[in-house]
Amino acid sequence: MSDLITGLIHHPYQPPAGWDAVPPGVFKASTVIFPSVAALRGRTYTAKTGYTYGLRGTPTTYLLEERLAALEGGKFCILSPSGLAAIMNVNLGLLKQGDELLLPSNVYFPSSDLAASVLAGWGITHQFYDPMNPADLAARINERTRLVWVEAPGSVTMEFPDLPALVVAARAKGVLVALDNTWGAGLAFRAFDLGVDIVMQALTKYPSGGADVLMGSVVTRDEALHLKLLKVHGQLGLGVAANDAEFILRNLPTMALRYHAHDAAARALATWLGQQPAVTQVLHPALPGAPGHAHWAASCTAAAGLFSVMLDERLSAAQVDAFVDALRLFKIGYSWGGPVSLVVPYDLAAMRDDRSALPGHLVRFSIGLEAVADLQADLAQALRQLG
Ligand SMILES: *Cc1c(COP(=O)(O)O)cnc(C)c1O
Repeated sequence: MSDLITGLIHHPYQPPAGWDAVPPGVFKASTVIFPSVAALRGRTYTAKTGYTYGLRGTPTTYLLEERLAALEGGKFCILSPSGLAAIMNVNLGLLKQGDELLLPSNVYFPSSDLAASVLAGWGITHQFYDPMNPADLAARINERTRLVWVEAPGSVTMEFPDLPALVVAARAKGVLVALDNTWGAGLAFRAFDLGVDIVMQALTKYPSGGADVLMGSVVTRDEALHLKLLKVHGQLGLGVAANDAEFILRNLPTMALRYHAHDAAARALATWLGQQPAVTQVLHPALPGAPGHAHWAASCTAAAGLFSVMLDERLSAAQVDAFVDALRLFKIGYSWGGPVSLVVPYDLAAMRDDRSALPGHLVRFSIGLEAVADLQADLAQALRQLG
């Protein structure tokens, strides 16, 4: 891990600037200039040795791509203007009319919404599989299946799947596996070592760390797969802005420190919440007893600062809302990975058809970088409002 952390700060890639400083230069371009007609005709966007067009990248975005590929243990990286755009890049790069896509039933909701609306409209079908049952995945793969998405842990309900077993099930039928690695951030586990083909991340979360930039990445090891995705990426016009890349480059060197601080604080607060009478279950994969804990323990050396709790089913929805409203340091909001702790109550019944497995009310917490004692005091005062 240590070389990985150091690799976020020291990297052999050198932007062609020649003006050395710790921060890399910020290169901006839409229009670019070629020294000759031969150069204009000779350059290719895949070589990354010179500009072809601003949308195809600049030394600033190439540097960020190199660092993210190294972080994930991959070879190639493609940046998109959001995590969701990166998901779309993978889907549109690999699927055409008549193909089928498989999604875990606990998938990040906008990803399933994209499949149910845009992809369905183009004749690309999808099915959900039970991420905790690799045999269910295997049974759903058919001759039209082209892509399986995996997520570890699942959004909101936080079950950690047996990733190697899911990969084996897909591989056995020759189907590509794409991992949404936003939670792991390249720090919790080595995704490519578990056999996945594509590793996507919402850089919006931990790599940004500031709750101020939207970006996504798609990392691969296989060059042909990379070029396939890169071609569609360019055709869709999914370029990223230089200043956004600059923010991520500035925050990458502190990401491992931040990630481990979020992790320690989240585990302390999740453990404490588990001891409170109103909390019937803690959904944090690193805590014993949580769904998929053994799978987490088999692959991971760390966890993100994200977890959910189930509050007693005897509480009313209004009481749960009042608990969330009573929190002061925790702000009510989606997303995560920034300095401010966040909380969202979720209506599982509206999200999933297998919700009966989790009785009660789900509340998700993203732990920021505030002092743990202050966050615990805030939770304690809001829990007292429940009576
Ligand atoms: C936030 C998130 C995304 C999407 O990222 P955006 O940059 O917000 O589009 C995708 N997957 C997961 C698991 C996320 O948490």
